[in-house]
Amino acid sequence: VGNIKIAHVSKVYTNGTIGLDGINLEIPSGEFLVIVGLSGAGKSTLLRAINRLHDVTTGSIEIDGEDITKARGKGLRLLRRNIAMIFQNFNLVKRASVARNVLAGRVGYYSTFRSTFGLFSKGDREMAAQNLKRVNMIEKYYTRADELSGGQQQRVAIARAMMQAPKVVLADEPIASLDPKTTEMVMDDLKRLNQELGLTVIVNLHSVPLAMQYADRIIGLRAGKLVYDKPISEVTEAD
Ligand code: ADP
Ligand code: ADP
Repeated sequence: VGNIKIAHVSKVYTNGTIGLDGINLEIPSGEFLVIVGLSGAGKSTLLRAINRLHDVTTGSIEIDGEDITKARGKGLRLLRRNIAMIFQNFNLVKRASVARNVLAGRVGYYSTFRSTFGLFSKGDREMAAQNLKRVNMIEKYYTRADELSGGQQQRVAIARAMMQAPKVVLADEPIASLDPKTTEMVMDDLKRLNQELGLTVIVNLHSVPLAMQYADRIIGLRAGKLVYDKPISEVTEAD
């Protein structure tokens, strides 16, 4: 599970800008795929289409055989649970503890009343602790999010994403605001989740050297088109 099949996907924004232009792409379950391309190439438009943060204009995106571009209501909610997203700016609640931020990854599973008052189950608290251990952040369980470094915040965001028990993790320039050392920690966390849990991981990156260090496969976008697609074994410096 975690297989993605993108067929004939185009996205034209309402102001006429072309975001994606005829994308065909199959991403097998368990692949670590890195998408590279200049700013404006369509990388984040593609990730946002895969978890239906926005609609595409034409085409289909199948997640394990189910087309997320056409799903509605409960079917869409269930499909989206399989897909976690990590953002450049972490998107944590700054004044809440690390634990509360990670448990927020379960909010969709609770009533508004219970989540507002932090009435999470013992099982979910254990799950939060387990996911914080995975990213080496368990010692910060009670720390407020705004007391953490950027790299630590991103690792908490990864732990929060794991609370969905996703099959696919999408990361949109997750290291853009981090220094080289914390960049490596965050990328190592993503690689570990990919290898240990078999998750499909798709990461948008600017840096080609970093892509070469972590990817199973690299694709390139330019002006909304797929212009490059190679397994890492065939990527050469000349590319
Ligand atoms: P959609 O076509 O998916 O409905 P919209 O055209 O409604 O998306 O745009 C969504 C939001 O993004 C709007 O508030 C818009 O102003 C903003 N936006 C417009 N142009 C850009 C851009 N080049 N990059 C990022 N955001 C933009
Ligand atoms: P990347 O992630 O590779 O930097 P994007 O997917 O953000 O590229 O953008 C692709 C193209 O779509 C760009 O021309 C960008 O300006 C445009 N774009 C992105 N978001 C919006 C939006 N909400 N409304 C209109 N145009 C947008």
